[in-house]
Amino acid sequence: MGIKIYNTMTRQKELFVPLEEGKVKMYVCGPTVYNYIHIGNARPAIVFDTVRKYLEYRDYDVQFISNFTDVDDKLIKAAKEMGSDVPTIAEKFIHAYHEDTCALGVQKADAHPRVTETIPEIIEFIENLIKKGFAYEAAGDVYFKTRSFNGYGKLSHQSIDDLRSGARIEVGEKKEDPLDFVLWKAAKDGEIYWESPWGKGRPGWHIECSAMAKKYLGDSIDIHGGGQDLAFPHHENEIAQSEALNEAPMAKYWMHNGYINIDNEKMSKSLGNFVLVHDLVQQQDPQVIRFFMLAVHYRNPINFSQELLEAAEAGLNRIRTSYENLKHRLSVSADLAMDSEKWTQLVKETREKFIADMDDDFNTANAISHLFDFSREANVYLQEKNTSKAVITEFIALFDELAGVLGLTLHKEEELLDEEIDALIQERNQARKEKNFARADEIRDQLKEQNIILEDTAQGVRWKRDR
Ligand SMILES: [Zn+2]
Repeated sequence: MGIKIYNTMTRQKELFVPLEEGKVKMYVCGPTVYNYIHIGNARPAIVFDTVRKYLEYRDYDVQFISNFTDVDDKLIKAAKEMGSDVPTIAEKFIHAYHEDTCALGVQKADAHPRVTETIPEIIEFIENLIKKGFAYEAAGDVYFKTRSFNGYGKLSHQSIDDLRSGARIEVGEKKEDPLDFVLWKAAKDGEIYWESPWGKGRPGWHIECSAMAKKYLGDSIDIHGGGQDLAFPHHENEIAQSEALNEAPMAKYWMHNGYINIDNEKMSKSLGNFVLVHDLVQQQDPQVIRFFMLAVHYRNPINFSQELLEAAEAGLNRIRTSYENLKHRLSVSADLAMDSEKWTQLVKETREKFIADMDDDFNTANAISHLFDFSREANVYLQEKNTSKAVITEFIALFDELAGVLGLTLHKEEELLDEEIDALIQERNQARKEKNFARADEIRDQLKEQNIILEDTAQGVRWKRDR
């Protein structure tokens, strides 16, 4: 027994054996920060955060690195459109990324390297590739000589000749072979640039991940993750760059999460059906979004719709209700010495089933089904006339443990009662009369946190819940 991971490289589930016992080195491709993240970007963030949490639950010491692409064509274009500059745009959306993913229960990586902070390592990487004969300069650009790398296409299972038939040299590109890809781009007039041995320019996209993985984790890592759309060409190119230079496998396990469709349609600019996490978390409990994502196995496609999101909410609430009922019963249960063997056994079995499914390529969908089963059993137990404090405590602890692995909290948000709101508003009025504006503002903020909006009207202060 042990953890099995589906490896895109071998197209099969493999027993997870890390390079170094007890340690996991993990690299996950992060976003290009030119906009708020959409629901498709949220999926890898949640999926690989859950993989990390589970590996930690299984006592691995996980080192987790995820990058920010903070300079590229999209950022340059966005900066131009917004009348801003690349660093300002990047800073804004990196901040928003942390805010949005934190709301989704995603833990920060051990490091979030940025391209603009990794330029020396990237230049050194490219120089060494040129020295080894895997790359060449052409009028200020540098390209990777794809045919020189034996094994190109091995991750996406394509032969070099299949790839050749689809490749073109675009206008303005100076490469020798259509399959070659850019490592360094000469700067156009007015563009952001760095000095390099090949003149003013900036890195191509793929090279950053090779340079960052090497810098933070070394030549070989355990798990490389990302969305399915990154397998080709991005990850194929990462492999070519890293393995050509390091002469060692870049990653032992390659993991890719599936796509997200919106109302059964592909998410695309032209359809205008982008769902931004930033907007979504304003309307929807972020825990429901996380639960919704994890209710599907990470390699399967997800269809996103308001209806399905509501179904997920109902599901999560069923589990939360059991949990709350247990908590309530705990406060009134006596410490009875009674036969609880059957229930202790249930806790043990539920944990075992949960682990067995998570061990099987992180099957969160099945793991969640065990939470449902367990909450049903807990409800049955709560029907009994006499319940034991010890059993209830064990039930609550198991819920906390297993939900925690999935990054879920089962506490319901505490909601203020109407009377409590009225009392606070009265207190605020009094504070204002006494010119104690600090206290008045404090109350306003406290209410705002609970989504209560105050309106000053001619008839006095009115309030409403902001949903
Ligand atoms: Zn990458």
